[in-house]
Amino acid sequence: MTKFSYGPDWKEREDTNLIVIHSSLTKPNDDDGVEFMRSLHMRQGCVDVGYHYVIRRNGIIELGRPLYAIGNHCKGRDHDSIGICLIGGGNVKGEAKSPDYTAVQMTSLTHLCCYLVRVYPEADVCGHNRTDTSSLCPVFNVADWWAETSYSLKTFNLENRASMFPLLTDTKKNV
Ligand SMILES: [Zn+2]
Repeated sequence: MTKFSYGPDWKEREDTNLIVIHSSLTKPNDDDGVEFMRSLHMRQGCVDVGYHYVIRRNGIIELGRPLYAIGNHCKGRDHDSIGICLIGGGNVKGEAKSPDYTAVQMTSLTHLCCYLVRVYPEADVCGHNRTDTSSLCPVFNVADWWAETSYSLKTFNLENRASMFPLLTDTKKNV
């Protein structure tokens, strides 16, 4: 494991308008994580991994750069965005294909995005291919996914579901 005797001189973001979803475009059986992405990006000359979060195939959310720091993942929008990378999205040759992210990865992505939009209410959730139209990353329609996910979560939170959770001490039925 890399051990830094000093931290990189992080530049703080002044605005956070986008939460950008990426794909590692790695092969389905490659169980990579933040350390793999970190070594890849550092070999390319970055001070650290470019993303703020990496979501492994098993759903574990790993921390990349500090959340407040400017990342290195989205040309032209690094100054006002957060980067999340899903591991996977590539075929056996590592080419972009229809996504095969695991169910637990998508659940983790939902939780993470819900958390981040609370911290940064002005931020929109989008795919890398929205800011870079030549990119296929993250190989699925993030706008549709987020519209559906955030809508169903909002609906669930607004409905009164108390009847689904009866109190164990409720004896009214026996009266
Ligand atoms: Zn990307």
